[in-house]
Amino acid sequence: MIAEAHSKVQARHLKRNAYLYVRQSTLRQVFENTESTQRQYDLRRRALALGWKLDQIVVIDSDLGQSGASAVDRQGFQRLVTEVGLGRAGIVMGLEVSRLARNSTDWHRLLEICALTDTLILDEDGIYDPAHFNDRLLLGLKGTMSEAELHVLRARLRGGILSKARRGELEMRLPIGFVYDAERQVRLDPDARIQESVRQLFRTFRRSGSATATVKAFREQGLQFPRRLYRGPQKGEVLWSELEHSRVLWVLHHPRYAGAFCFGRSRQRRHPDGHHVFVRLAPEEWTALIHDAHEAYISWEEFEQNLQRLRDNAHAQGADRERGAPREGPALLQGLTVCARCGERMTVRYHVQGGRRVPDYMCQRQGIERAQPVCQQIHGQALDAAIGRLLVETVTPLTLQVALQVQQELESRAEEGARLRRQEIEHVRYASDLARRRYMQVDPDNRLVADSLEAEWNAALRALAQAQERYEQHRQTDRAELDDQQRASILALAQDFPRLWNDPRTSDRERKRMARLLIADVTLLKGADLTAQVRFKGGATHTLRIPLPKPAWMLRQTPPTVVTAINALLDKHTDGETAEALNRQGLTSGEGKRFHRAMVARLRTVYALPSRYARLRARGLLTLAEIAASLQVVPDTVKIWRRAGLLAAHRYNDKGQCLFEPPGPGAPRKFRHQDKIRDRSAASTPNSNPPNR
Ligand SMILES: [Zn+2]
Repeated sequence: MIAEAHSKVQARHLKRNAYLYVRQSTLRQVFENTESTQRQYDLRRRALALGWKLDQIVVIDSDLGQSGASAVDRQGFQRLVTEVGLGRAGIVMGLEVSRLARNSTDWHRLLEICALTDTLILDEDGIYDPAHFNDRLLLGLKGTMSEAELHVLRARLRGGILSKARRGELEMRLPIGFVYDAERQVRLDPDARIQESVRQLFRTFRRSGSATATVKAFREQGLQFPRRLYRGPQKGEVLWSELEHSRVLWVLHHPRYAGAFCFGRSRQRRHPDGHHVFVRLAPEEWTALIHDAHEAYISWEEFEQNLQRLRDNAHAQGADRERGAPREGPALLQGLTVCARCGERMTVRYHVQGGRRVPDYMCQRQGIERAQPVCQQIHGQALDAAIGRLLVETVTPLTLQVALQVQQELESRAEEGARLRRQEIEHVRYASDLARRRYMQVDPDNRLVADSLEAEWNAALRALAQAQERYEQHRQTDRAELDDQQRASILALAQDFPRLWNDPRTSDRERKRMARLLIADVTLLKGADLTAQVRFKGGATHTLRIPLPKPAWMLRQTPPTVVTAINALLDKHTDGETAEALNRQGLTSGEGKRFHRAMVARLRTVYALPSRYARLRARGLLTLAEIAASLQVVPDTVKIWRRAGLLAAHRYNDKGQCLFEPPGPGAPRKFRHQDKIRDRSAASTPNSNPPNR
């Protein structure tokens, strides 16, 4: 073997460096398995024996403390591959070389590169030249077997866990509120304060329907939530701290609180870049889910309802704002609207109109997800107002129920808080009693111990005093709230819902809350007008038809009736007279304004209505010049005759300018050549030169 080894090591190999690759997979191995590290460094001596000099031996051990399942993120292994690839390595050494890489792909790539760059490989069993087929085969096998070994090991471990889990017998870390008893059965935590806190969390969520509101309620009432420590010197102890949002979510998502044993709620998935991500699975994909495995805090139905509620709330924040908890903003029906076309929940968007925020109800989820136009967009102002009126009309029989519900809610909330705080006092009192007994039992001569025990006792007494103070403080505020303002507003709600609804001091949020107590949902369909199908809680329905607000350009448009009226009036009247006539009839412009002369003139041009002048000319009326010419008199004579009533004329504008009726049989007959003139006027074409309008 040695001879063979020496035949493989050539002068060209010795010219290049020897790389010693030291690998430990986890930090624990680094600490506990120092012997293995020792063996890896022993290889250095082998290299020296084979002829490499000490300064030629490069140790790569930067992967210490990292798992070897993939080459990614393992700088040491990457560096090794690079060095080999550049032809700088004469030999690569490693303990059980196949473990150089735990991943077969990495390993085969290294072999390939070693073969190309004429690099040798050395492990405890011998020396290999990857350029030789037999050696490469052997090394390949070693790599494959190493991977298989790892797999089998893992599968065996996991198999044992899985079969235990499927039977529901696997002992797992229990969430707070549960403990294993002496028979290793899962029981509710015998500590009443812990138990009550968990129950309080579920109660608060049931009432408020939101994790954030639950956190808020705990903070407002000065309540704490337990947490068990799993690490560190205080392992196993319970720590009381402020409730956090993530903790509420965690508790709500944990099936154990519903008495179910579960295993495999998430799966680890490896990304192409080597990172691992945990993917949450749907309950039907879990490895094990055993209902009623032990005592529970809530029923499985409630557990599922809670998750549904969380999902609804989450949607409200993200993809679409459906059924979220009431938020700021005036949109009364936020979270209550449903699109009648596609059945999706509609979202709210605001736009500013006249300095106020006006809601639009949009159905756009399909649009956003599939890049399609918005399905429906509905102006919310008229709709909200109509719903408000409907509520004010309908609410009276329901009012009392609502009021009672609110009152009950407030009372039970206060009572629960008080109970928890009383328990806290009990807990602290027990601790202080214990400290006192310890102090009493100690030998008074043992000053050191006695002093520290006394300090402990004092601290416990202080904690007790604080807990009592908190209890008193909250009891008083709770009572005050119930006595004065709350009771008053409840009574107000019961007695006078319409007044409360219309009171400008009532916040949007309150109105929304009231709407939610009464309305299940509102289905909207936009057609010629807006149809809103209101479904009340309790099943009653009511259909509202609301005229759609006109778009801006249409709002400014002159109604067709007005245009027709103008057309008719111009037959008999000037622009100014027409405007007055329209105003007398109570007609207004598209913008709701009174008419005046210039407006009529503009509308005439816009709608291509013939002017008064054109109309009169079309009827054959003559200008002053024309009639003067036809009568062979000067224009002033025509004016005199007109004033005398001898000639008929019609004003065509508001400056008093007129057109004249052609002289008929009743025309002045003062002329010597009457007949001759009439003949001539009949033959002459009318003067085409129009006077100023
Ligand atoms: Zn839709």
